Amino acid sequence: MTASNSCTATRAEFESGTVPIHCSAWPPATLTASYPALEQDIEADVVVIGAGLAGSSVALHLAERGISVVVVEAAQPGDGASGRNAGHVQPFLDALEPLQSWPGQGQPFIDFFIENRNIVFDLCARHGIDGDAVKSGMVEAAYKKQGALETKAARWQKLGYEVDVIGADRLREMLGTDAYSYGLHWREGGQVNPYLFTHGLTSAAAGLGARVFGDSPALSCDKRGQGWIVTTPRGSVRAQKVIICTNGHTGNAFFPELARTRYPLVACAMATKPLPQAVLDTVNPARVALTQYPAGLFPIVIDGRKRMITATIPYPGRADAAQTYFAYFLRYLHRTFPQTRGAAIELESYWTGVTASSSHVYHNDFAKLYEVADGVMALMNLGTWGNVMGPLLGMNLAHAIAAERPQDLLMPVERPASVRFPRLFEFKIRHLAIPAARVADRFGLV
Ligand SMILES: Cc1cc2nc3c(=O)[nH]c(=O)nc-3n(C[C@H](O)[C@H](O)[C@H](O)COP(=O)(O)OP(=O)(O)OC[C@H]3O[C@@H](n4cnc5c(N)ncnc54)[C@H](O)[C@@H]3O)c2cc1C
Repeated sequence: MTASNSCTATRAEFESGTVPIHCSAWPPATLTASYPALEQDIEADVVVIGAGLAGSSVALHLAERGISVVVVEAAQPGDGASGRNAGHVQPFLDALEPLQSWPGQGQPFIDFFIENRNIVFDLCARHGIDGDAVKSGMVEAAYKKQGALETKAARWQKLGYEVDVIGADRLREMLGTDAYSYGLHWREGGQVNPYLFTHGLTSAAAGLGARVFGDSPALSCDKRGQGWIVTTPRGSVRAQKVIICTNGHTGNAFFPELARTRYPLVACAMATKPLPQAVLDTVNPARVALTQYPAGLFPIVIDGRKRMITATIPYPGRADAAQTYFAYFLRYLHRTFPQTRGAAIELESYWTGVTASSSHVYHNDFAKLYEVADGVMALMNLGTWGNVMGPLLGMNLAHAIAAERPQDLLMPVERPASVRFPRLFEFKIRHLAIPAARVADRFGLV
């Protein structure tokens, strides 16, 4: 099935979020560094399985502390959700209540999050990563006053954030539309090319001595003496510690219980061809990362190549219907930004990916840190906000390992536990919430 000019993938690949990574708009035409397969038996202090945002960050921060680390990645860095996402860098947490059960009732994590909320931009600056990261701020835009947004702004203002409640005039100025009359403007956060950022993290780790192997899926993970041996098709790594950061993407045949800890959700994303100048001049001239409140139907960024990138949730069984979702997106654009009617806005790329969430309640969705066995941990289920959480939690985990201070971990360490009704989240979102939100948005009912 052809979904865009260059992407040829099967319906099953679209439906499982595993279309080839070049279907995503984020990889450059000439692919960045590719890492060789592991072809020998080697040793390290720590082996990290999976080079997405989480695994790359763990590796980078371990290497920075002088720990000997090996990364084995099934494909190449960024091949999972990290190379497929919508590029939003969210500087705040959606809810604080679920953190009550975290160490110190979540306060140490909240403090750490606040201190490191600019981690994407900081890491790019520190390691010279060219991730097209722009700290352009974020806008949550609504058709009418929303009490929940006002409460959220007050809460984060108290925590020291520069976030403003804005009205129609300011929204018009920033976004170039009269459609919204109420919203929040977060001065921090913004956007990133998540594929380039993930590659940048991996290559910074490699620069600091981490040994990175691509095309090396971990096939097994077995206890050997005091440590573990992770086997790939043509090699193996013996290490004291194993950190699994596979996001449940291709599954872990060796620890199948991990795949049952998550609510998977297939999401689709698309990029336009570079926009006509008139559109660039009048749509979102502030270049903020834009999301719509409450449903976030079409989060939008305009990237360094002047393309508009958005994401949405496909109908069940119709994840390959690129033209359908692009038509929905255009309808939204034309209605919200009438100046785009008649403009040549064309689809360049369409792809899908899978998110792995720890909760079927959207706002309760926080990443999980599992102790799978003695010496084997898994950092996964980063949900829909991994651009900040992956690097941030990876850094905390790496620092705690390097210092041999498990008490420094900010997340609770849990045993993997199966979620109940794993398809519930997907059913709710794909069958009910998103179709209802599309109708409500179309008729301005929210
Ligand atoms: C369409 C879409 C839009 C999104 N939008 C946003 C957004 O705007 N902002 C945001 O912050 N987040 C967003 N997210 C979520 C974000 O992308 C994820 O939370 C994040 O990428 C997860 O990172 P990760 O490292 O845990 O997993 P992944 O990036 O999935 O990495 C897991 C890696 O493990 C590898 N792997 C799997 N099995 C094995 C094995 N056996 N051996 C070796 N390697 C293995 C995979 O190949 C993969 O590279 C979005 C996600 C999607 C799908």
